[in-house]
Amino acid sequence: MPDPESGRNGILQCRAFFRYTRRVPNLPSRSSSRALVVCALACLVAGRATALPPAASLLPQGPSAHAAEESRPFDLRDRAFILCWHTFLGRKDLSTDFSLGELASQLDVLKALGYRFIDLEDALFGRIEGSRNLVATIDDGHRTILPAYEKVFASRGIKPALLIYPAVIGESPYFLKTADLKTLVDAGCSTGSHGFYHLFVTAQLYKSDKAAFEKEIFKAKTSVEKLTALPSYIYAYPFGAFDQITKDEVARAGYDFGLAVKPGFVYADERLNDRYELPRTVVLRDRWDALVAFLARNVDTAKVVGVQPQTWTESDEFPAPELWTGSPLR
Ligand SMILES: [Zn+2]
Repeated sequence: MPDPESGRNGILQCRAFFRYTRRVPNLPSRSSSRALVVCALACLVAGRATALPPAASLLPQGPSAHAAEESRPFDLRDRAFILCWHTFLGRKDLSTDFSLGELASQLDVLKALGYRFIDLEDALFGRIEGSRNLVATIDDGHRTILPAYEKVFASRGIKPALLIYPAVIGESPYFLKTADLKTLVDAGCSTGSHGFYHLFVTAQLYKSDKAAFEKEIFKAKTSVEKLTALPSYIYAYPFGAFDQITKDEVARAGYDFGLAVKPGFVYADERLNDRYELPRTVVLRDRWDALVAFLARNVDTAKVVGVQPQTWTESDEFPAPELWTGSPLR
């Protein structure tokens, strides 16, 4: 017997999925409508919310779609650089933590360099123009994200994407309440999964505890979708740790993109991206100056050369792997 409550969640998900498929570039509107019908039928039959298919699977396939692609020169010009913040407590002893004042001045410094922030969704779907684009993401779902959004990001027109792990949302006093998350989603912040318990989702976990490995990917997806009433199609590897099996399972679970922690840009020319290993950079207190210097060089290079993005040198010692304190921040 279908459960009315989950049936309603299913219909909400269908609507959200329909809206989402409408944003996929080059997706014929017929495919989008067909996806809605398929999704709705699946929900009606199952009487509950079902796993959503990756929208990319709806794009036109076949040789004719690829022939013109192959001969086109690579376009390095249109690119975005994804940043990742964590918490906003103002603790100077934590490399990943900043006060709201520090966050505000960071954003203003980046703007003064000539950068603008675009939404993660725009970057992922190739809606990128020029070389001075940044994307704000915030990992984990700490309770300080709400004041950071309301007092710092919102007035600057920035909608950070939130990569969250459901074990703590609405469960731990140090993390976002479910209603706070809803406020942020309603304000236009996109969301994605960041594990379920924030484990190291690697080949080692796959071998030692396959159920736990799968929960970090599959259960994380349905739980985030339930929390946000939106499709969760972006996966951010907890600790930035992953193996090939992680990428494969993330794709199999229906995520369209995987965010890693590694140097580099996301390009509008999707042939330059590995969409399950997209580069992202953690904002760290002791590497902030190096980050600004790097981004300044990227601006200068774009001015002079026009096309070639900056790459890291050994001496930059940047970016560092994601840091994790191992205990919740109060
Ligand atoms: Zn994390």
